[in-house]
Amino acid sequence: MMIRSSTVKRLHLLYGASPSLGSKRRITISSAHRANQTSEESLVVVGGGAAGVYGAIRAKSVSPNLRVLVVEKGKPLSKVKISGGGRCNVTNGHCLEHKVLAEHYPRGKREFQGPFFVMHGPADTMSWFMDHGVNLKTEDDGRVFPVSNSSSSIIDCLMLEADRIGGKVVTGACTANDGKFLVKIEKRTVGFLQNVEADYLLIASGSSQQGYDLATQLGHSIVNPVPSLFTFKIVDKNLAELSGVTFPKVKAKLKPDNAQKNIPEFTQAFVFPSVFLWIRMLLVDFILDIHIEDAKGILLQHKIKFAKQKVINSFPPEFGLVKRFWKYLLDREGIDGETFWASISNNSLISLCSLLKNCSFNVTGKGQFKDEFVTAGGVLLSEISLQTMESKITPRLFFAGEVLNVDGETGGFNFQNAWSGGYIAGTSIGKQAAGVFQKANVAY
Ligand SMILES: Cc1cc2nc3c(=O)[nH]c(=O)nc-3n(C[C@H](O)[C@H](O)[C@H](O)COP(=O)(O)OP(=O)(O)OC[C@H]3O[C@@H](n4cnc5c(N)ncnc54)[C@H](O)[C@@H]3O)c2cc1C
Repeated sequence: MMIRSSTVKRLHLLYGASPSLGSKRRITISSAHRANQTSEESLVVVGGGAAGVYGAIRAKSVSPNLRVLVVEKGKPLSKVKISGGGRCNVTNGHCLEHKVLAEHYPRGKREFQGPFFVMHGPADTMSWFMDHGVNLKTEDDGRVFPVSNSSSSIIDCLMLEADRIGGKVVTGACTANDGKFLVKIEKRTVGFLQNVEADYLLIASGSSQQGYDLATQLGHSIVNPVPSLFTFKIVDKNLAELSGVTFPKVKAKLKPDNAQKNIPEFTQAFVFPSVFLWIRMLLVDFILDIHIEDAKGILLQHKIKFAKQKVINSFPPEFGLVKRFWKYLLDREGIDGETFWASISNNSLISLCSLLKNCSFNVTGKGQFKDEFVTAGGVLLSEISLQTMESKITPRLFFAGEVLNVDGETGGFNFQNAWSGGYIAGTSIGKQAAGVFQKANVAY
């Protein structure tokens, strides 16, 4: 019922859908659906996240007669919604050169030295959204956000483009058979599509186990998925005030419950309230390039020079802090912001230095989000062509986004992987469907 000849120009999104490989590996096409099929080719996208929706839109725009169905088991673009503290850090505007950009992917660094980001990089992503009516801004640290400061702008744009239809709930199974993908979708609610035949399958299922299972059953190897980036739960109500404050360079030490010899250290962008792996205590050096003795000197100088100013209103620019974080430090030290610098004891200055150099946060558990921010692991990159995102194992099978063994640093790099992969996959599928695709030397 979803892909009717009368609606072939539309792109369909099914909500609540969850296709996975069935045990029988044989699927039937419902007669109602068959009867309405035309000779045009069809694409099923597993996953209505950033990569899936962007890829589907691209495929449909390259090949308008391609029948496109996006199957989503939950709410489409739900991670876009919560990303970047609700603002959606779409991409990174300081890493436009593809080799520089590739360095920001702990997994993918080597493979992304190739044409992946040349075909669709941050500048292309920004142009795409701007051309589709979303005004973007690049913040000082390179993170790109909608001017509205709301992820809804991105979602509305994509959903408008996708020309979505109403929410549905389906589960299903999918396999490749005689060069076609036969997708069985079990009925969960009345009036639902049960079976779909697809010429192209794009798996953009993020870090979902079902997506990995699907890939495995279609011949792919999975690198064991592990959390690469997630939030810590730190009970400190004053941290809420710091939401969105970013430090481009800090050193973070993670202390486990039981003393470990090699405590890992990280120097990366640091976004409140998110950080890195495991652990019971987090120790952060916020002024990495300033020695503690120099920091004390800076504070003492400031005290002398600004003796008649209130501490909340004046703080050393050398530390590169924002006022909200300075206030946080004062509160932690129990210093009233209305106090004049002249009245601040030298002991308090030393304590402030210690906080800047070795600020401790007690970690009480994993963050509030069920899902990891980013999962490392997934489909082996060597098994797909990054020029087309097509499987080297199963023709007409494509992958994009976090389902791949890729993970990026914070700063918009993970979405960029999703946009690039989705776009390239969509282009390849669209071109194949339109019959103008040439296997080699494709000009994008
Ligand atoms: C809290 C949070 C904040 C983040 N902030 C940022 C940020 O600001 N910038 C950034 O670059 N990155 C950010 N990320 C990471 C970013 O969201 C992901 O890298 C990105 O969403 C990956 O896109 P994707 O389309 O590959 O996967 P997803 O967005 O995870 O989409 C996959 C979709 O597939 C669906 N699905 C899975 N299995 C099935 C199935 N069997 N059938 C049907 N549907 C299925 C899922 O329900 C999901 O909607 C954030 C992540 C989180 C969790």
